[in-house]
Formats: sequence, structure tokens, C-alpha cells
Amino acid sequence: MAKRIRIKDLLLNPPIGTTVHVKGWVRTKRGNKNVAFIAINDGSTIQNVQAVADLENFDDEIIRHVTTGACISVQGELVQSQGKGQSVELLVSELEILGAANPEEYPLQPKKHSLEFLREIAHLRPRTSTFGAMLRIRHNMIFAVHKFFHEKGFYNLHTPIITGSDAEGAGEMFRVTTLDFLNPPKTEAGKVDFSRDFFGRETNLTVSGQLEGELGALALSDIYTFGPTFRAENSNTSRHLAEFWMIEPEMAFYDLTDNMDLAEEFLKYLVKYALENCGEDLEFLNNRLIDEEKNLKQEERTGMTLLERLQFVIGSDFERITYTEAIDILRNSKPNKKKRFKYLIDNWGVDLQSEHERFLVEKHFNKPVILYNYPKDIKAFYMRQNDDNKTVCAMDILFPGIGEIVGGSQREERYEKLKTRLDEMDIPQESMWWYLETRKFGTAPHSGFGLGFERLMIFITGLKNIRDVIPFPRTPGNAEF
Ligand code: ATP
Ligand code: MN
Repeated sequence: MAKRIRIKDLLLNPPIGTTVHVKGWVRTKRGNKNVAFIAINDGSTIQNVQAVADLENFDDEIIRHVTTGACISVQGELVQSQGKGQSVELLVSELEILGAANPEEYPLQPKKHSLEFLREIAHLRPRTSTFGAMLRIRHNMIFAVHKFFHEKGFYNLHTPIITGSDAEGAGEMFRVTTLDFLNPPKTEAGKVDFSRDFFGRETNLTVSGQLEGELGALALSDIYTFGPTFRAENSNTSRHLAEFWMIEPEMAFYDLTDNMDLAEEFLKYLVKYALENCGEDLEFLNNRLIDEEKNLKQEERTGMTLLERLQFVIGSDFERITYTEAIDILRNSKPNKKKRFKYLIDNWGVDLQSEHERFLVEKHFNKPVILYNYPKDIKAFYMRQNDDNKTVCAMDILFPGIGEIVGGSQREERYEKLKTRLDEMDIPQESMWWYLETRKFGTAPHSGFGLGFERLMIFITGLKNIRDVIPFPRTPGNAEF
């Protein structure tokens, strides 16, 4: 047997006239009494290779097992294709069934399945074109994240996944414990005695690597984290996962404007990288979306194809406006006046809902928007206070179809101000002693942001539900696969 070649490599530079050996999963089998056309995919590319088997040369028994989903190994001469739809085909001389897939039971058929159905068979959905494309793009985006920061001189920092600090306040946390549920040790006051737990204290899964990231930035200047993040949010939206991946750069000597500049450059870099390196997969998803939108009402359509939208983001300057300006726009907007928002905008100080964010991005400005200088009462304790005593140096980046994709801020580097803020928000200073010490010893202005990797993937792939841009989604009530 010749050495096995990946389909991607085979099609890149087809060795016409030579014997090639391919392994993969059958997508379809067509043909007649004399010949079978077998489309094989090995996941290395969205493209299949067409194998042509002259049935005279093979046992019925073998051919019978060549069904959608079966894994096969074929060898034969690669020739220019006679038929339409492919440039080359493989004339099978040897055929082996590596793993049959009983067609009565195999759930993936060569037709379009709904994404909802595919979520129920998440163990097999990587074998579909849509998920193959998503997974290859996901890999490329992970690589591009590291490439961007590496080229910029940032250092990757692994921040802990199990954390003892619960002060971040980004959401509900998952507890990590080895205590006996049925019979936990108790304190004299009758509470669970976490001092006897594995770490000698209460611990949780991290909701953000930022606080530890800051420790890195105040030593290495420019760092980034890219790790799993856990939030026990029982929200069940199409944009929230309980387990997701977040990229969090943290930069010493950056102010809020530097921070916004970096975030905008980073997002454009990632989109450009996808366009340049994931062409075939994006084209497939682009066409998929065009098909899907045909069934939508005019007002539900996005008006741009996926590829147009990606190009558009690279080419446009993100609109930068303050929270206060945004509130003015929203207060005077049609949906507010006609009471079409679920949450009406009335007073300065309210938190924006995703309907407001999407109005600003999709209706008002029609491009990505960076909102900055938010009221301090709706933002975290670590954000730098502005001189107006009302707002903090926060910035959120809002994207079409998604809403918030990035959240960031300039951090409060002034020791006294930070301590006051902790008190105001009832966060015990003892629990944050190590964080406070960075402000006590050699503090420096610094900034950072968090990009939700799956929110980015929603934007790049045009898949609308966050459950479809991660291999194994974790959401309330779902951790099957
Ligand atoms: P949202 O208001 O959308 O819940 P957030 O304000 O909680 O977001 P941050 O705490 O600022 O978000 O986190 C930074 C980024 O992480 C967000 O901009 C978003 O891209 C992403 N993110 C936050 N929560 C989730 C989640 N549950 N699933 C996936 N991504 C998330
Ligand atoms: Mn949230």
C-alpha cells in the first residue's frame, strides 16, 4: 500500500497518474449496477475526494458496507475527473472497510440537518460540513490570537483555573471541593468548614484571569491570557456558555485610548486572518447563511452576506462614543419613544441591555461601536475612576448580531482610591491583599480587556448560537458530551 495522504494535501497539488491512498468517512455513495461514486471526507479540508469503484472488481459484501458514515480506506490511481463538481477522482483498486456504520442506525444522513438536532448528537456533528468548517476556523483563530500577541511582544501567562478569590463579581461561580456532600465538616456556628476542604479555603472555577493577569503586566509590561472561563449563569441565551474561552491582554502604561486602539487592531487582525486563511470554509458558511436567510422575513435579514460583513469590519473605523452620548441617542430613538424596547431608556445610569446595544450597532451607526466611560455603579471595582466622580474608564465593544464582544477598562492604579472603592462595594480588603499590594509597591497605569473567544467565533462563522461554535457546549442542564 502507498503511504496514506490527507485529502487536503492531495487536492493542494494533485499527483495525477500516481497511486494514492486515502482514508476517511463516506459522505455519500451514488452510482448504478456497474459503478459506485463514493465521496470521502477526512476532515482535513471541507472538500471530499471522489472515489470511483468498478463493481466488477469488488465483493457485493464489501460494497454493501460502503454507506454514509462508514470509515474506509481506498487506494488507486488519481486521474483527471470526467464528471462535474470535482477536478480529480481516485480509481479504486483496493478498498477496505475500517469501520462500518449501520445505515438503519447512523443518525447523520446526506441531507441538511437542523443545528438543534445536531446539538443532540454533538459526538457526531464534527463529521458534518458545517462543524468541520467551524472547527477548522476555530483552530485558525486560536493560532491567530497567539500569533498576533507574539508578534507584538506580549507574553502568554497561564492564570489559575481554580481560584480562591471570588471578588471579581463577573457572575455566579462553580465551587470546587472535595468535601463530603452528605456529611461536610461544620464550624461551631454550624456553617460548612471550608478550612478543612482540599485547599484549606473556599475555591471556585475562575470567571476571569484578569486579576492575576494584572500581576503579570506589572512585571512583564505586556501579557495576555487565553484560557477556559466558567460562569454559572442560568441565563440560557444564544450568547452565554457556562464554560467558554477568554482572551485577556493586560498592558502596563496603556491608557483607555491605547486599550481601545489595541482591541480594534486585534479584532481586525483576527477577521483578516480568517479571510486570508479559511477561504473555503468561510465560503461554505457564507452560502449556508444565504440559504438560511432566504427563509427569513425581509426585516430579519442582515442585509450583508457573511463575507461582506467580515470585509466591512476590517474596512471601517469603529465608532467611539461615551455611555452618556449613547444614552442620549437611545432616549431619543424611535423604539424608545414608541415603547418598543423591552427596557425603556429613561435615566442616565441604567445598564444597557442587548436590545440597546444592537440598536446602536445595527440601526444607528451600522458598524462596530466602542462605548466608554460608563457609570461607576454598574461596573466592577477595579475600573479607574474619572474626575467627574460619576464614571469609570470602562469600554465595551459592540458588534452586529452579537452585542458585547469585548469588555475592558483602564484599571484603578491609585492605592487609596482602590481601597475606598472596595469598601464602597463591600469587598473585604483582606481577601484582596495581594491585589492591593501591586498598588502599594511600584504601581503603574495599566489597562486590559477580555474578548470572549466564542463570541468572536459567532461573528466569524455567522453561526448564530454560541452552542454551535464550541465543540462541546456547557449550558444549564447540558453537559452530556
Ligand atoms: P455579558 O453582559 O454579555 O454577559 P459580561 O459583561 O458579563 O458580558 P465580561 O465580564 O466583560 O462580560 O467578559 C468579557 C467578555 O467575555 C465579554 O465581552 C464576552 O465576549 C465574553 N463573555 C462573558 N460572559 C460570557 C459567557 N457566559 N459565555 C461566553 N462569552 C462570555
Ligand atoms: Mn455576563
